[in-house]
Amino acid sequence: MAKKIIKTIKIDADKCNGCRACEVICAAFHASPKYSGVNPARSRIKLIRDPIKDMFIPVYAGELATAECMGRDKYIIDGKEYGECAFCRASCPSRATFKEPDSGLPLKCDMCEGEETPLCVKWCLEEALIYETREEEADEEPKPDEIEQSLQSLVDKHGLEKLVDTLARMAEKE
Ligand code: SF4
Ligand code: SF4
Repeated sequence: MAKKIIKTIKIDADKCNGCRACEVICAAFHASPKYSGVNPARSRIKLIRDPIKDMFIPVYAGELATAECMGRDKYIIDGKEYGECAFCRASCPSRATFKEPDSGLPLKCDMCEGEETPLCVKWCLEEALIYETREEEADEEPKPDEIEQSLQSLVDKHGLEKLVDTLARMAEKE
């Protein structure tokens, strides 16, 4: 059976000092053109950050959720209460987190595609982010890629018919 490489970033939250270097480099890497700007809203990593309460926890953007979930979690860790959905990684219709600021399309960590090591890991001087890889057997079914996910979110927002019409109009102009 075919093998695939699983990439993960382990978070050692006790080491995070809330400097936001990870957000800055992620936003810059995903600017268009690359490194042309630093809009934190483009970052695929966001800090839960409250210096008064000594809360500093990075959260990575994960899969798209097309519908709001039915249950919401709250966590109390070491006596600190974290807000509703604080640790959720999904780009979901119920909040603005992990959405591309211009288009509203979902953001997802792509492990800095093309880079040997994720840039947030490189830029974290506190070593709060640890890059790890492992090999696993590949799934039989291919998962939808980023383009499919983005198109699905446009279909959910505008309807399939409108999207197809728009694409056809764009194709005519090409
Ligand atoms: S791995 Fe790359 S894309 Fe993912 S959060 Fe870090 S800098 Fe952003
Ligand atoms: S770069 Fe490291 S220490 Fe700074 S906010 Fe990000 S995870 Fe925390």
